Amino acid sequence: MSRNTDQKGNRTENKGKKKDREKEKEEEKKGQKREKEEPEREAGSPCWCGSGLPYASCHREAERKLEFFRARGEHVPDRHLIRNREQLAGIREAGRVNALVLDAVAEMVHEGISTQQIDDTVRRVTGELGGRPACLGFEGYPKSVCTSVNDVICHGIPRADQILHAGDILNVDCTTEYGGYIGDASRMFCIGTPSPEAAALVRVTGEAVERALSVLHPYCHLGDIGAEIASYVGRHGYTVVHEIGGHGVGLSMHEEPYVAHYGRAGHGMLLFPGMVFTIEPMVNAGSRRFIVDPVDGWTVRTADHSLSAQVEYMIEMTEEGPVVLSR
Ligand SMILES: [Zn+2]
Repeated sequence: MSRNTDQKGNRTENKGKKKDREKEKEEEKKGQKREKEEPEREAGSPCWCGSGLPYASCHREAERKLEFFRARGEHVPDRHLIRNREQLAGIREAGRVNALVLDAVAEMVHEGISTQQIDDTVRRVTGELGGRPACLGFEGYPKSVCTSVNDVICHGIPRADQILHAGDILNVDCTTEYGGYIGDASRMFCIGTPSPEAAALVRVTGEAVERALSVLHPYCHLGDIGAEIASYVGRHGYTVVHEIGGHGVGLSMHEEPYVAHYGRAGHGMLLFPGMVFTIEPMVNAGSRRFIVDPVDGWTVRTADHSLSAQVEYMIEMTEEGPVVLSR
């Protein structure tokens, strides 16, 4: 499930970031003083993260790298976003179960079914696998999955009276809680034979995520993702939504950082091994402008009613590069 930031939210977030950086600088100064008083965190004492492991074999290496990049003026993640081994094992499992739920959806999606039937399948299969649909009840969301058809960009609510017709394009966005961790991914489905225009939009959206994946490497910048996606879809005449994007995920549904699908390569937060996040561009055939349904408060539609497609991967950054945990 994608994360909203309205324009007001964006401004606040930017202000917040500035404050954060000021705070960071202050803390750095304090940290330098503290370092003189207590030169090294005890290597053998338990890590602050609660892993139960000695600090030396848990977060010490990552924190040394954080310090190294911070000293070079880079925007580095909060150390809590670098997951420990136990958390990563749990998050990978949640991703695996999440993909199985989407596999079950892929088997039942066809012309003539309602989007409510997709919701029923997600709820049933998630339960059978020992998980829980994480979006059910999230900020008041009423269903177990998001089903976004044609001009719906994201957060479409399944309905018994919404029947899938030949030529429709559909995004199913599924968030799964399993063992206390969160998996999150979404897929596009074409019902029957799509128009050439719809088929091209769906194909390019999937390719955009693959392109973004191909530029990822440990300690790359968050802006590399957005720059690659926006330029790729732009070359095809499409636009990408700015105000809704991907996010950190794993311990809860929406975590830092916000993953924008536009931006400047070489800018933004560094992606450290141990971080888990989503890439999920919403690509419109027309304008990137959208309207949130005033009645249900969730459904996001293109302002010009053009088609929209979205593909979401859940990704763990490792020392060897990105690993897709669910797609
Ligand atoms: Zn640790």
